[in-house]
Amino acid sequence: MKNIYFLGECMVELRTMNESALHQSFAGDVYNSAVYLKRCFPELNAAVVTAIGQDKLSAQMLDRFNSEQLDTRFVFAHDEKVPGMYYIETDEFGERSFSYWRNDSAAKKIVDFLTTNIVEQLSSGDMFFFSGISLAVIEQDARELFWQKVTQLKQAGVKIVFDPNYRARLWQSIDETKQQYDSAFAAADVVLPGVEDFEMLYEIDTIQGVIDFCKPYDIEEIVVKNGPKSVVTVINNEQLSHTISPVAYVVDTTSAGDAFNGVYLGARLSGREIADAVNLAAKAAGTVIQQPGAIAPKDVFQQAMAIAGL
Ligand code: AMP
Repeated sequence: MKNIYFLGECMVELRTMNESALHQSFAGDVYNSAVYLKRCFPELNAAVVTAIGQDKLSAQMLDRFNSEQLDTRFVFAHDEKVPGMYYIETDEFGERSFSYWRNDSAAKKIVDFLTTNIVEQLSSGDMFFFSGISLAVIEQDARELFWQKVTQLKQAGVKIVFDPNYRARLWQSIDETKQQYDSAFAAADVVLPGVEDFEMLYEIDTIQGVIDFCKPYDIEEIVVKNGPKSVVTVINNEQLSHTISPVAYVVDTTSAGDAFNGVYLGARLSGREIADAVNLAAKAAGTVIQQPGAIAPKDVFQQAMAIAGL
């Protein structure tokens, strides 16, 4: 069985249901990707690598991971910390805004749990995925150790996968981000950037600009997402442009890129060709943005993917 590991933070998500009730669920970019991968490719093992707490919500989060058939061997329980939380507020015009409580979350401590023994276990995997959000969450004084662990995994033959997924508010400065991203691009075998990330961070606003930026790094597979416009892939120097069918009624774009990443990686791990993998990934993302929240209902999602030929 092939193994992919998703390192990052899953949070408690709250949103208003009606005047007197909040709806509570769980979401986080790498977790979302793991869910969509596993729903499409149940024959692959998808593990979440994170730290949670020992509180009730952490127990529910773990139950949720299990209910999505994710591997939870690398979900560690911190003695004192609890998971991060965010609240989605929707104003009278339907505009959404987010409030976060994550500065002291358990997931920030994940590197403490990556012992020699754990890294040895992870070394037998096929892919190790982290995002720019994962990097931002890792505490500053643990970063050097994190990169050592990533190097160990790469040397063991695990493919390193990176999605920049830039969130300015999680970083102290652009220089700090650029420095961490440089290490990530240098380590990565596969990158899945969005043009929007590059626009904010490097003032690069074209797909070709993103590809040119990535080229000097020794990256095997570059997959550039550009919303509904197109996806361009560069694999072993062969550049291909893939057309996306725009969705007419977009409800909520949260986790479009996450769904894309999970399904693309699952398809590639399953031996699918690039065009086929992009097509399935785009279909997954297109389905997710027609539903509210990060995780689309399983039946709706599965049905759309069956129609897409999965
Ligand atoms: P983004 O992170 O905005 O680049 O979006 C990630 C992926 O979601 C894209 O590569 C598309 O496959 C898909 N996507 C985003 N927006 C749309 C849309 N309006 N219609 C169809 N697919 C979309």
